[in-house]
Amino acid sequence: MGSQPKLQILFNRQEIESTVSRLAAEISQDYRAKYPLLIGILKGSFMFMADLLRHLDFPLEVDFIGLASYGGGRQTSGKIKVVKGLQSPVKGREVLVIEDIIDTGLTTGFCLDYLRQKKPTSLKLCTLTNKPARRQVPVTIDYLGFTVPNKFLVGYGLDLNQKFRNLPDICFIEDGD
Ligand code: 5GP
Ligand code: MG
Repeated sequence: MGSQPKLQILFNRQEIESTVSRLAAEISQDYRAKYPLLIGILKGSFMFMADLLRHLDFPLEVDFIGLASYGGGRQTSGKIKVVKGLQSPVKGREVLVIEDIIDTGLTTGFCLDYLRQKKPTSLKLCTLTNKPARRQVPVTIDYLGFTVPNKFLVGYGLDLNQKFRNLPDICFIEDGD
């Protein structure tokens, strides 16, 4: 197990809630009449997705795709695979991808390429957090919550070795841990 890492709050639950409301307002303006398909990338986006959707009061559909990049721990393996496929047809749909965090960009880049091949009418990206310091492939973000420093974040869906997803605040692990 090892010792518990020391956590510090980066964004507390009130800051997250106001950012989620702001994103929901932007998305509502653009998608109200479009009957979009919102696709959450598992597992990290589940909490953001649930909170965001509570603010969207127009017809939409929801699906999830499971992608894995990190083999465990804090480093990306660079290899992405689909570990849970979609159930909804994407062809001809207005698709909005919901991400928790974009780091190197490899996962999101893979996901957008994968979905683009399925011929949606439109394909856009909403991410709660963006960590630009370690980007390897360019990613266009249409709706952005927070730009974050080059630290390892946990909480509000984000994990370290599958732990800490249940924290209501977004925290970072103090250097040295
Ligand atoms: P990328 O492929 O952009 O490097 O990373 C995307 C995925 O890596 C995210 O969906 C997330 O699962 C994981 N990841 C990247 N940075 C962090 C971080 O700071 N904390 C956690 N918990 N996961 C991260
Ligand atoms: Mg993710």
